[in-house]
Amino acid sequence: MAQRLIVIGGDAAGMAAASQARRRRDRGDLEIVAFERGHFTSYSACGIPYWISGLVPERDELIARDPATFREKFAIDVRMRHEVTAIDLDRREVVARDLGNGGEVRERFDTLVYATGAVPTKPDWARTDTGGVFGVQTLDDGAALRAWLESEPRPRRAVVVGGGYIGVEMAEALIQRGLSVTLVEQAEQPMSTVDPDMAELVTDAMRAVGITIRTGLAVTGLEETDGRVSAVVTVEGPIPADLVVLGLGVRPNTALAEASGLPLGVTGGVRVDRRMRVPGAPGVWAAGDCVETVHRVTGMPVHVPLGTHANKQGRVAGINIGGGYATFLGVIGTAVTKVCDLEVGRTGLRERDARAAGFEFVSVIAQSTNRAGYYPGSRPMTVKLIAEKPSGRLLGAQIVGWSEAAKRIDTLAVALWNGMTVDDMTALDLGYAPPYAPVWDPVLIAARKAVDALTVSRR
Ligand SMILES: Cc1cc2nc3c(=O)[nH]c(=O)nc-3n(C[C@H](O)[C@H](O)[C@H](O)COP(=O)(O)OP(=O)(O)OC[C@H]3O[C@@H](n4cnc5c(N)ncnc54)[C@H](O)[C@@H]3O)c2cc1C
Repeated sequence: MAQRLIVIGGDAAGMAAASQARRRRDRGDLEIVAFERGHFTSYSACGIPYWISGLVPERDELIARDPATFREKFAIDVRMRHEVTAIDLDRREVVARDLGNGGEVRERFDTLVYATGAVPTKPDWARTDTGGVFGVQTLDDGAALRAWLESEPRPRRAVVVGGGYIGVEMAEALIQRGLSVTLVEQAEQPMSTVDPDMAELVTDAMRAVGITIRTGLAVTGLEETDGRVSAVVTVEGPIPADLVVLGLGVRPNTALAEASGLPLGVTGGVRVDRRMRVPGAPGVWAAGDCVETVHRVTGMPVHVPLGTHANKQGRVAGINIGGGYATFLGVIGTAVTKVCDLEVGRTGLRERDARAAGFEFVSVIAQSTNRAGYYPGSRPMTVKLIAEKPSGRLLGAQIVGWSEAAKRIDTLAVALWNGMTVDDMTALDLGYAPPYAPVWDPVLIAARKAVDALTVSRR
């Protein structure tokens, strides 16, 4: 008899696991059933801001594979609009509610993949049932927000609450749609994924495109008129709004895991080993935004909810379930984003992370340009490096600049992943031609500056 794999969650991690398992085991050997409570499989939440802005015109362009493709090409029985409500590890079955007709199904499993993603943070005041208040977690959220933008009376004033990368990307999307946009952030800076000195460059660029930024400001409520939002209430008074977008971060979606006795880690994510197995639960795997992983620089557990990790972790789980061997070796926190034309990249530790982890370090900021100074389109680029003292090992890097800035972080991520020192990095054979870099690439200039700082610090 065929074994049975049940997957909970039909997006990046879940469907990557299901597809990889299918590649290695045919349907006679492994039956695969995937439960997804939403309307879509394998969709790109990452693309939502660009769909909202209009850059990506159609919702369906954000869907990599629909349920029919999974059924026909991969022989994966995808059950849409089915929410798993319980996992019974002893009886090895899941209970799912059909959200269409309210019915309940029970399905047996030999192997289980838990890939339920993350839950957006929602303080008590954040009522998304008020007209004009939206999260941007799912394509349904995106569709509701787009419909609001196109409905009468047309919203003119948007407030984005939360200055993480999703808030920043949404602020950009809405300014591009012609709204007046205020971004409210409780901390002293938006983009807290980079150090304050680098975040200031991002803040300046956001202001330059017309986004009003209010920092150090806590939102305490919403005002509404006739069921439509009319203002965001803050400790410094109301900010008028016809549209509110919530970008307050996420936490791992572990309610089901916890209820069924699966172990959670210190960050709240499901614990997994490097093959994505859940310890103490034979035949149970977990992947994506719902799991805890390890930071390779500090060795500490972290929760880093990013699509890049979800896809890789799902793939690792699927290969192993399929009978192969694969491992997920942790993260270093590489991420990129942009605000209009300004690009931002980061990897590794910020100064505050390095300090908290007990490292001694130097940090340097190098100003350079993306192309040879004389080449048309040459624009400033700022590279920050954090290097351990006295070893010189790279601990973290951040880049802010115009074209060709963000993806330069990948060079630094590879260096960091491989434990290079800034001294080693000065010798890196990086490409040079005037349209792509100055003769000394900004990464090399920053590495040289870090070496100088280390030399001074050793005296
Ligand atoms: C606006 C936005 C922009 C982003 N941009 C980027 C980016 O640029 N780069 C990047 O790397 N990452 C980005 N991300 C993050 C990325 O989208 C997520 O990390 C990724 O989707 C996680 O994949 P996942 O499969 O773990 O979880 P999800 O994509 O959340 O999928 C989990 C699925 O499980 C389903 N589910 C949950 N519980 C149940 C249940 N009980 N029964 C059945 N189904 C269930 C959910 O409906 C969902 O479809 C962005 C996210 C958002 C919201």
